[in-house]
Amino acid sequence: MKSKKFETLAIRTQLERSEFNEHSTPLHLTSSFVFDDTEQMRAMFSDEIQGNIYSRFSNPNTTELIDKICLLEGAEAGWATATGMAAVFTAFGALLEQGDHVLSCRSVFGSTHTILTKILPKWGISHSYVDINDTENWQDYVQENTKIVYIETPTNPGIDIIDLEWLGNFCKKNKLLFIVDNCFATPYLQQPIKYGANLSIHSATKYIDGQGRVMGGLIAGDANLIDEIQGFARHSGPALSPFNAWVLSKSLETLPVRMDRHSENALKLAEWLEQHQEVELVKYPFLPSHPKYDIAKKQMYAGGGIVTFIVKGGLEKGKRFLDKLKMISMTANLGDSRTIATHPASTTHSKLTDEEREEVGILPGLIRVSVGLEHIDDIIADINQAL
Ligand SMILES: *Cc1c(COP(=O)(O)O)cnc(C)c1O
Repeated sequence: MKSKKFETLAIRTQLERSEFNEHSTPLHLTSSFVFDDTEQMRAMFSDEIQGNIYSRFSNPNTTELIDKICLLEGAEAGWATATGMAAVFTAFGALLEQGDHVLSCRSVFGSTHTILTKILPKWGISHSYVDINDTENWQDYVQENTKIVYIETPTNPGIDIIDLEWLGNFCKKNKLLFIVDNCFATPYLQQPIKYGANLSIHSATKYIDGQGRVMGGLIAGDANLIDEIQGFARHSGPALSPFNAWVLSKSLETLPVRMDRHSENALKLAEWLEQHQEVELVKYPFLPSHPKYDIAKKQMYAGGGIVTFIVKGGLEKGKRFLDKLKMISMTANLGDSRTIATHPASTTHSKLTDEEREEVGILPGLIRVSVGLEHIDDIIADINQAL
């Protein structure tokens, strides 16, 4: 299968057909599996033979999804979890121990920030934040006990880009595990493992589902790390439901066509916004005005579906813009077929001080649009009337 193209792998990676000769993989909604005899049960429990025992450990639908994400990411092995945050926490929980240190950026997803700042310190695990745009200084932050470099690119909602090739070399030189939250790009647009990442993590809730239906998380990467993750997850229990695995595996079949259209719509919107007089700044990886345009072009196949812009008039104007939208949804998700807009300064990040918001790249007039699959003319028309 490995020699096939991405689109084919996304569709043709399937469980073997059952006695019913089904064309599309059926749902295996069962919590456990029956053994033929005590000898088989003993051998499976002691890992002498592979097989399904209990759906907290493995399930055929989850296995299909994991096999698929591994092929799409170019990874040796993988694991699936109930949510994206379960994937992030499982990776940290399995790979870190007391006294370890993580190097990351302040722009990471909000709940990842909470894990780093509130949860891991309970177990004596510390972190430092480095500036994603100032890689010159990173070396100064590497400590003797630094074990993991954890980043997102593009970042949320600032759409900053980090050079994965540079970071892969940096991690190799410093003997650090290199983990990327690849949720915004998906493996169709960006494959961090090519640049030396040891793990690529996804909130499958976003573009992998792509239709705002189910939650899930995926981890793909080095087999030795996935072994540790599997040992941790089998017993701590963040298992993905077989139903969600079944949905997500089907969703991946259409990932390439969806990401092509998301990216095409997003680029058109970004270009349109850039010439609008009420707009101060537009951030999109594939706009030539993006400070890291060349790096984005090098490591991403297309720009993805997220466009960020700053409306003139600050906080009040940002709020008013959102309230005036007619079709575009105001909801706490992204990567949906429906276009979604958020105004972080007055909603998700309203509790932060102005300085704290600025540190994360959230200016008062910043709007984040997760550009959907509706016709671009209708998306632009709604944004135009609200501006
Ligand atoms: C949504 C998101 C997560 C968390 O995923 P859930 O499925 O909501 O748990 C992690 N990282 C990024 C970049 C996200 O957008």
